This record gives sequence, C-alpha cells and structure tokens, in this order.
Amino acid sequence: MGIITSDKKAYWPDGCVPFQIDIDNSVFPTTVNRINTAVAAWNDLEVGIRLIPRTTQTNYISFQSLGGGTLDFCSSTSAGMAGGIQIILVPENPNPAVSCRIVHEIGHALGMIHEHTRSDRDDWVTIDFDNVEPLKVANFVKANGTGSIDVGSYDYSSMMHYCRRSFAIDPSKDVFIAPPTNGYANLLCSLGAYEFSLGDQATAARFTAGNTHVYKTFPHGEVNHTVDMRSWSAGWTITAPFSIGSKNYLFFLKEGDGWMIVREINSDGSIGEIVDNQDWSSGWTSAAIYTIWGKNHLFLLKKGDGRMHVNEINADGTIGPIIDNKDWSSGWTSASTFAIGGQNYLFLLKESDGQMHVNRINADGTIGPIIDNKDWSSGWTSASTFAIGGQNYLFLLKESDGRMHVNRINADGTIGALVDNRDWSSGWTTAKTFAIGGQNYLFLLKRGNGRMHMHQITPNGKIGSMIDLRMWSPGWTTVSFYSTVQGTYVSMMKA
Ligand SMILES: [Zn+2]
Repeated sequence: MGIITSDKKAYWPDGCVPFQIDIDNSVFPTTVNRINTAVAAWNDLEVGIRLIPRTTQTNYISFQSLGGGTLDFCSSTSAGMAGGIQIILVPENPNPAVSCRIVHEIGHALGMIHEHTRSDRDDWVTIDFDNVEPLKVANFVKANGTGSIDVGSYDYSSMMHYCRRSFAIDPSKDVFIAPPTNGYANLLCSLGAYEFSLGDQATAARFTAGNTHVYKTFPHGEVNHTVDMRSWSAGWTITAPFSIGSKNYLFFLKEGDGWMIVREINSDGSIGEIVDNQDWSSGWTSAAIYTIWGKNHLFLLKKGDGRMHVNEINADGTIGPIIDNKDWSSGWTSASTFAIGGQNYLFLLKESDGQMHVNRINADGTIGPIIDNKDWSSGWTSASTFAIGGQNYLFLLKESDGRMHVNRINADGTIGALVDNRDWSSGWTTAKTFAIGGQNYLFLLKRGNGRMHMHQITPNGKIGSMIDLRMWSPGWTTVSFYSTVQGTYVSMMKA
C-alpha cells in the first residue's frame, strides 16, 4: 500500500494543509491550472486530507515555478510537514503530456515516501543500478526502517512508485526488473496524472487516523504539530487536565456508562500511562477541577437530575473520596470554576432557560452558598473563564445563532458588566480559553464541519484578531488545553 514517515511531528494536524500558489497565473495559466487540478484531486479523496488556501498559517506549502519551458519533472522539499514554508516546484512546461505528477509531490509533502524504497522491496523488484542516472541513485535507496513505516503490502500501482524506466541511463532498458506478474505491468504507470491507487488512499488515511489527537501549539497560540494520535473506544464526553507538582494528568469520563480513567501526560504532551480506572454511575455531563492550597478537587454534575459530587484528588493523581454530594435542580449544562485572590468560585448556567448561579467554594473544597443568581436569555451553550492580570472574565457563546458575550467578573465573584458582544456565525460547539506566557487565546471549533478559529484576547478582555483558521474533519467534541515544561498542547477527541 505505501510507506510514510514515522515522525508524527511531520503529520499535518488533522490532515489540514494550507497552501498558496506563488506563480503568476497571467504568465503561466497552464501550470497554475494543473496545480489546482492536483489539489482538487486530493480534496476529492475521502481520506481526511484537505488542502486549504493559506490565510495566516505558519506551516504551509508554497507552489513555485521550477522555470524552463521544457523541463519534465517536479520536486518537493520535504517528506511531511517541515515547519514554516515548504516548496513544491512545478515546471512551466506547456506540454499537456508532461509526466511530472503534482499529486505525487503533494504526497511527499504529506509524508509519503517512494513505494520502491520500502524495506520489503527486494521481494518484489530488482533494481538495475547500473542503468540508473548517477544523480538519481539516492531516489532508489531502500529505507532502513528507522524513520519510516511500511503500510500494508507492496503496491506496484502506487502513484508513489517510479515507472519501469524512470531515470534510466538507457531508456530502452528497464530500471525495475521483477517477475512479469499482472501487478508488475502497472509499473508502466497506468494511473492517470491525477489518480491514486486504493493503496495510496489507505496510506494517506494514516495521517489522520484515530479518534484522539494531541497537537502542540506555537508560542503564539496557533496549532503547530501533531504529538499523539490514537484510536480509542467511543463515548468519551469529558476531559479535564490537572497538575500535581511537576506532573500533569488528564481525567477522562464517559457520560454514557460512567467509565472514568486518569492518565499521566508526558512532558512532550503525549498521553501516557493509566493511573486510575473506575466504573461510576452514568449521566455525568459537566466536570471542573479546582485547586485549594495545592490540593485538587473534582466537581461533577449531572444535567439530567441535578446530582453533584465533589471528589478529592489524591497526590498520586487517582480520584479520592467524595467530600460533598447534593441534589440540585436539573438542567445545568455549563459548569466552570475561577479563582480571585485564592478564593474559588463555581459558575453554573442552564442552556434551557438562562438561569445562572455563582457559588463560593469553601476552604475544605465543598460547594458553599450562592452569591450571584440571575436570569439571562436562554441558549448559551459554551462558557469559559479567563484571567488577565488579576481581572477575571467570563466568555459565553450560543451555538444556535453565534451570539457571544464577554462579562467582567467582579472582585467578589459576582458577574459584572458586559465588555464585548458580537454576532458570529452559528454552529460553534466548543469554545475554550487558554493562556501562554500571560497572553490569553480563544479556541473555537464547529463539530459539524470541523472549522477551527483561534483568536487573541486583548488586554481589556475583548476577543481580538484571528491568528489561526483550519478546516479540520468534522466530529471533534471533547477538547482540553494543558501545558507541560515543553509547551502548551490541545487534546481533541471524537466522542
Ligand atoms: Zn517523488
């Protein structure tokens, strides 16, 4: 089927590849047209790869001119995402029969490697090195098995396989010599210029595999590169990060059956070993973690019947005893916590009728009295708090119509004046704030179509300019941000 780089950092996050064509269309319309056709061929495959016109993204492909009027090859500078700009060179050859395959070069830029360099290739082909152009010998050297992964079995039909006589010194003689099987006949390059074998498609799908991805962010908040990709069981509706000393952990919970686990987070941001694993009752819809004098507490709430628990979190990252449990009214859909000068508060909101509460959290971690209680409009689906200097803010968003508010939070924990309000597009299902080095950012994601926006937050609490925009795959539901000594990461799951 294929061979790909094993370096996850080189996988474009969720298969989203920003590109721009740095060729003058008025001078070389044929070349630009061929590039657009190749981009469309990739985007028409249903393998999770999407090439999008670049806006602000830092990592991207630039298509540039190789020059010359008769050149008949193209090139890519990297196997996989290199970081920053990476160039695919395309010849300005007006001949429609030009053999340069732009889909092949995009394959390289995604992380695909030449099929005939697989570790098992000697079982399938013999290469007549005496007939290979000396400057091209490197393109025929077998992978040594350390920087690459062979995917499936050998594929004579792959668009990443050279043709029988590619780079032959004597073009009347084959470079690839193999048993004359049916498959070998395909080394005559029977695929069209914009076609993919079934093996190519299955190989490309490996770059977006799994229902759990973790990405590192740049120091300025944009998504940088992949650090983890897994396929786990479905149904994880809650993740919540916490730290104890220098160790980081991620709490996972399924609403459907109450299964919970806690895993360590490795310093490179990837998800590590299980440290706790229990079966609880089903129906928990909200979780929030807060810290009092260095001790973590887990707040859990069921929308369905208003049941709430507070658990202590033990020093080894396992979930400890229940220290508070009450039956509240049902219907609470958002729960988040914030701290002002060492005092913790719990913010609760009902989507259905807009009722909100702020509770003080007692010094022993139990939930204290209601200190604020208002009736807002209904329909708020996302709530997230953030702090700038010593000032806290509450961000609210409605999925149904894109209405957003930012409110200042008063020094006594009550919700104060509106500082920002706008009408955005509808459909945002995830809104999370996070901070890197004192600068706050807002992450927005639509489950329906995979659209992601990242905004800076200004020093006065307003939502500022967009710094990143991606078209990811649909279905991401469960998002957390966390930081280790090596950086800040976003974990995403498809429940
Ligand atoms: Zn190539």
